[in-house]
Amino acid sequence: MKKLFHHLLNIIYPRTCVSCETVLNASEKHLCVNCLYTLPKTDSHILPTDLIERKFWGKLNVKNTYSFLKFTKKGKVQKLLHALKYKNKPELAEYMGFWYGTELKALELEHRIDLITGVPLHKEKERIRGYNQANHLAKGLSEALKIPLDTEILKRNTFTESQTRRSSRFGRFKNIEGVFTVNDRSKVEGKRIALVDDVLTTGATLEVAGAALLESGCSEIYIITIASAY
Ligand SMILES: [Zn+2]
Repeated sequence: MKKLFHHLLNIIYPRTCVSCETVLNASEKHLCVNCLYTLPKTDSHILPTDLIERKFWGKLNVKNTYSFLKFTKKGKVQKLLHALKYKNKPELAEYMGFWYGTELKALELEHRIDLITGVPLHKEKERIRGYNQANHLAKGLSEALKIPLDTEILKRNTFTESQTRRSSRFGRFKNIEGVFTVNDRSKVEGKRIALVDDVLTTGATLEVAGAALLESGCSEIYIITIASAY
């Protein structure tokens, strides 16, 4: 009966692939089989590419950067990321995180990373969206990699308009300084932490979030993202 109900529901409201919008069959989840096999992977964990690594050169001391998919404007990956962020699909973020986690499993990162956390969103943004996609990606990764998750490590501060105006006099860097603060230093000190976000473009946000962790005594930073533009 339940099966029939789902079948009927699927006829009335067909579930579609988040990446190419073809109708999914009953066994497909979020992505169609074709997209599952053809999404452009970076394979940066097998063949490290400095096109990804160099985004942090001279800016943030990163132990390693892993990005799952190649991001191109108007491509399949952009569609996927859009769904993950704006279509109220926290479970898609967990699914993608878990999938990437299983691909990274061979690296045995559980021996090198102590905990995983997502880049925090502004509280107001999170309230409107209903969730922080980075934390859900981090949750999926944490489950697949068997590395503890702690989404409370970092806090993203909100600035009043006058504060933003005042600090903008000092240029971009000063402007983003103090955006993130560590909630509890004792949870960070001496820890090797993987910082997770959905997409790596300029790396500016990850850079300041990572810097806040290092300033609080974190010993190593790893960056893990679902996509990277390069
Ligand atoms: Zn598809």
